[in-house]
Order: sequence, then structure tokens, then C-alpha cells
Amino acid sequence: MTTRNGMKRRNIGAHISVRDLCHRYRRHEELALSGISFEIKPCESIALVGRSGCGKSTLLHILAGLMSPTSGSVRIDGALVSGPSPDRIVMFQQPHLLPWMSVAQNVGLGLKFAGEARHERDEKVKELLRLVDLDGFGARNVQELSGGQQQRVALARSLATHPEVLLLDEPFSALDPVTRRSLQRDVRRIALDGGITLVVVTHDIAEAVAMADRAFIMAPNPGRLAEILKFDADLLAGTDREREMFVSAKAQLESAFERTYGRGSAAAAD
Ligand code: ADP
Ligand code: MG
Repeated sequence: MTTRNGMKRRNIGAHISVRDLCHRYRRHEELALSGISFEIKPCESIALVGRSGCGKSTLLHILAGLMSPTSGSVRIDGALVSGPSPDRIVMFQQPHLLPWMSVAQNVGLGLKFAGEARHERDEKVKELLRLVDLDGFGARNVQELSGGQQQRVALARSLATHPEVLLLDEPFSALDPVTRRSLQRDVRRIALDGGITLVVVTHDIAEAVAMADRAFIMAPNPGRLAEILKFDADLLAGTDREREMFVSAKAQLESAFERTYGRGSAAAAD
């Protein structure tokens, strides 16, 4: 089956199950995470929200398998996560592109490592560039691109290996608001179309509402889940009704944020 973007649908999304997760970076130090349990359904999109230092990145890195928790478990479709995998890709605030390579070479890097033949790689790279709205940019030097375009290249590179889970650590926080909004929308659409489970770390309330089905609000010292909020609406299409629902979902999340962090904290959240 192919999606309307032409990308082959291979995934049905992964189910993530987290049980009693605790993490301590060093012996005798405070717990960075404590007693975290939750389930994420296939193709669901979750925003991890909370003030700096509450353990969002730590949790994301554990979900990716980049770090082992001190105790507790992460299972993806029932299998214990014990290390990194191309099925679970992390995108960071910086796109981390290789400046001496073209856009197409950067996007095709994972395919090259996977041993794909040149011809197939070129075809896939073209398709990926179309998907992230960078059609015709393949031969360009990555340094000539804007921050938003570079993040799109990083996104295309992340999607090349058909990840089942995309983990985003404040990926758009260095971008201007307009660029940021278009990337939020595009990533959400691509994930829905491609059957990808999304986890987005953000301290921006509007970003959480725009991208997620549910928000997990985290509290600090030790990092833990304070509240889970479900958004009712699909907020992508931008009709008047949806704009209203967006405003109301944002207000709900702001209230939840203030229950955890105190009055006035949501306004200062970003
Ligand atoms: P967030 O992403 O929400 O800002 P982090 O997950 O980065 O929070 O950090 C959570 C806590 O763990 C903080 O107290 C931070 O100082 C600590 N921490 C993060 N990374 C390390 C590390 N590599 N070594 C020791 N402590 C760390
Ligand atoms: Mg962080």
C-alpha cells in the first residue's frame, strides 16, 4: 500500500509499554526518574511536557535504547528494549548533518550503511525529499539551507529506514514560529500516514497540542509523571471549529501545567 505521499506504508506503528522506570545517573545521586509507567498505542503521538531538568530527555533516551534505566523496563511490541535500533530514531534540536555532503547524500546515509544499491538509494532519496517538501534540493550543499530546511533533511534521513517510533527532543526550538508550525504539521502528518508512533519532548504548550493525542506532564525532583491529558480533536485541518478546539485544548494543558508547577508557570513555560 502507498500513502498519498507516495511513501510505502510498511508500519502499523509500535506499542510502547513502560513499567516502573527509575533512573539514577550516578550512585548516591538524586533519582532523575522515578516510578514511571505508561502505555502508548500504535501510531499514537505523545508530548512529554515539563520544565527543564524534569527528566524529559532522560526518558526519551531510555525509550530509544541509548541508555539503560537503573530499574524498570521498556518494551516495544512486547520486546524488551536493550539497545539502540534503526526502528527507533531520535531527532535532536540540532540536525547534525554532515556539511561536506550534499542534501541527497545526507538523506541516503542510513540506506548506504544498510548496503542498499545506488540506484534504489537514489529513488528512495528522491521520494523522501518529496515527502519532506524538499523536492529538487538533492544536489544542494546542506550549508546553503535555512535552519528549517536542514531540520527537514534530518527528518528525511530519519525516515529513510522506516522507523516504527520517532522520538523528538525539542527538535524545532531553534526555529522561527512560522517554520516551526509547518514542521510540526508535516511531522504529524507523515507519522500518521507512515504508521509511526511519535514521542515529542517539548516545553512549548502550543507545540504539544499541535502534535500530540495526549500530553504527559512531568514533575521534577525526582522526574515523574504528574498528569496525563488527552486531546479530543484532530487539530490538523485548520477549520474554525478546530481552531476553537485548539484554543480549548491549550487552556486545558496550561491548567494541568499550573497544577504541577504553580500559578503563572504555563505563561513562562516557553
Ligand atoms: P530535561 O530534558 O527535562 O531538561 P534531563 O533529562 O536532561 O531533563 O535531566 C534530568 C535530570 O538528570 C537533571 O537533574 C539533570 O541535571 C540530570 N542529568 C541529565 N543528564 C545527566 C548526565 N549525563 N549525568 C548526570 N546527570 C544528568
Ligand atoms: Mg532535555
